[in-house]
Amino acid sequence: GSVVADFEVKDMIGKGGFGQVYVASRVSSEKEKVALKYIIKRRQDRYLNIDGHSKPMLAEVAIMLRLMKAPQCPNIIRLHDWIENESDCTLILEYPESCQTLDRYITDTLDMNENKARRLMRQLVQAVRFCVERGVFHGDIHARNILVTTPRLELKLIDFGCAWPVTRMPFYSWKYQGARCYTPPEILRHPKFFPSMANIWAIGIVLYEIMHGRLPFYDRQSIMVGDLHLNPTLSSACQDLISKCLIRNPVRRILLHQVEEHQWFNATSPNAV
Ligand code: ADP
Ligand code: MG
Ligand code: MG
Repeated sequence: GSVVADFEVKDMIGKGGFGQVYVASRVSSEKEKVALKYIIKRRQDRYLNIDGHSKPMLAEVAIMLRLMKAPQCPNIIRLHDWIENESDCTLILEYPESCQTLDRYITDTLDMNENKARRLMRQLVQAVRFCVERGVFHGDIHARNILVTTPRLELKLIDFGCAWPVTRMPFYSWKYQGARCYTPPEILRHPKFFPSMANIWAIGIVLYEIMHGRLPFYDRQSIMVGDLHLNPTLSSACQDLISKCLIRNPVRRILLHQVEEHQWFNATSPNAV
């Protein structure tokens, strides 16, 4: 592959309208793998002047820097560095050993159970809690923005390209731009709706997806009014948590601390690993 600065670029692991993500290794320390996220700058990109940086920074970088300050969270991907010029920006990101995106992990895991789900969801909730404490709203929680390592089942939240600094809300808020199938009804109605409860909806969609191997809703109509079909063999605690995350009225939806304290997280089933 080609060498970008100190990196030998290997396979492409992600591709979008933005640019690409490659796995690479440092030439100076052969074994250390990193992910290079190459972003082509566009006119609509957001720049932020926060946290005392001398000039406005690409929002994705500014927000990740806020999350990188010690103490760090093991469930949020690390930004090692970034290289920027007028036309593009390359993020040098942690590449966890033997990781895959959550959607692939779900597809590949034939023996999914609530204990595995609980291990993953605890870490997802911890990542979201950490973001809240740092004043960051992720804004695009979904299975392709979550990495899982095997066999240890460590979870890492990635992709802060749609994130907001909460401190700027509600004085002005950006339009929610997260993945459609994970977007709550209130945001579909009003894209500038105060979005703090959207995280919880997306957490509910992810838990549903882990336990069913598919999404509960695939279009706007079903997000708005469709029935939630839960597998009746799930524990009642699990069904309760999913249902409460997917309450359509954001004012009645379960709160993050109530998710953390929910009985499902304390349950252990007879076939616990
Ligand atoms: P986008 O903003 O276009 O969605 P992402 O940051 O989500 O870009 O990256 C796209 C894909 O690249 C991810 O879904 C994942 O498969 C892969 N990827 C991104 N960052 C990493 C990383 N640090 N380690 C491993 N894979 C990654
Ligand atoms: Mg993404
Ligand atoms: Mg993104």
